[in-house]
Amino acid sequence: MVSAMHTVTLIPGDGIGPEITAAAVRVIETSGVPIHWDRQLAGMAALEKFGTPLPEETLESFRRNKVALKAPLTTPVGGGYRSVNVTLRQEFDLFANVRPALSFEGTQARFDNVNLVTVRENTEGLYAGIEHFIKAEGKTIAAESIALVTRTGCERIVDYAFRYARQTGRKKVAIVHKANILKCTSGLFLEIGREVAKRYPDIECEDRIVDACAMQMVMDPGQFDVIVTTNLFGDILSDLASGLVGGLGLTAGANIGREAAMFEAVHGSAPDIAGKGIANPTALIMAGVMMLEHLGEQAAARRIEQAVRAVIKEGKHVTPDLKPGSTCTTQEMADAIVARLQS
Ligand code: NAD
Repeated sequence: MVSAMHTVTLIPGDGIGPEITAAAVRVIETSGVPIHWDRQLAGMAALEKFGTPLPEETLESFRRNKVALKAPLTTPVGGGYRSVNVTLRQEFDLFANVRPALSFEGTQARFDNVNLVTVRENTEGLYAGIEHFIKAEGKTIAAESIALVTRTGCERIVDYAFRYARQTGRKKVAIVHKANILKCTSGLFLEIGREVAKRYPDIECEDRIVDACAMQMVMDPGQFDVIVTTNLFGDILSDLASGLVGGLGLTAGANIGREAAMFEAVHGSAPDIAGKGIANPTALIMAGVMMLEHLGEQAAARRIEQAVRAVIKEGKHVTPDLKPGSTCTTQEMADAIVARLQS
């Protein structure tokens, strides 16, 4: 059956962004799924051309298409610019940040049995952007930041995590918090989390304190299935999970709202290797896999994932972050994945 044409907002991003975007687009197109790419700028590339890191045209395109594949953006330092990523998440109410960490055979990661998904609340908590300096006699003497946690926000993210677990055949959800110290914000999250869990008797629920959870993830990640947590804890734990499976070059994330969804690599624009052609394209390709699943293109998603896994397992065409000393380029790794898909 031939799929209908999908239109996707494509943001090639900054730093290594354009290099890995070219690779990901080529791989996704090889899968045969018909996609019209609506290319838009954001980040430094947009700031240079339009004088703003998030032009109205880009917002309009995403509003229209409701699906975006976004490469990493460099957040301009100073100038009063807010992070474009944070703005996009809040503007489109992309409340769930879903970050799978799956072991890849053939990597030199610490573990080979990691298969966990972090579901991070994406719009509230300490990232709500409510902060200010306190000045006295012209001098900054303190800084204050407010963590905003709402009943609605907690309920929808925990419910999303349990529904996700059920739909993907997962068995267990860990509610991660710091309610022993942050009695109000983390306390409310835990209380509502436990209430929501009762609606899902088929899914095991446990709660863990974030610091102990971090230690247990490093010692024995195989015990985790789905983790649901607030914004800051989720940000840190999902990067930790990326480290468990071999680094930031491998992991992707989805930002899901009621109406729109944006797919991205977990890593940033990697200015230290930008322009060298050696960035690992896997994370953005895996973001493309998550996007295809969202678009209902499960068969193509599986084929791409299998091709990526085969190339990494074989180890001949992988970038230096996966095999120190390798001279394989982003393009050569993408060529190998394309060849697998075509074979
Ligand atoms: P980073 O993720 O860009 O880089 C951290 C390290 O990982 C670097 O050594 C880099 O070379 C390496 N790395 C990252 N991706 C890689 C890949 N695909 N292949 C090989 N190596 C890779 O983090 P940073 O240096 O802290 O941030 C750089 C910029 O990216 C900052 O402006 C930051 O704000 C931005 N950022 C954007 C996003 C996003 O758009 N989603 C996420 C994180 C950081």
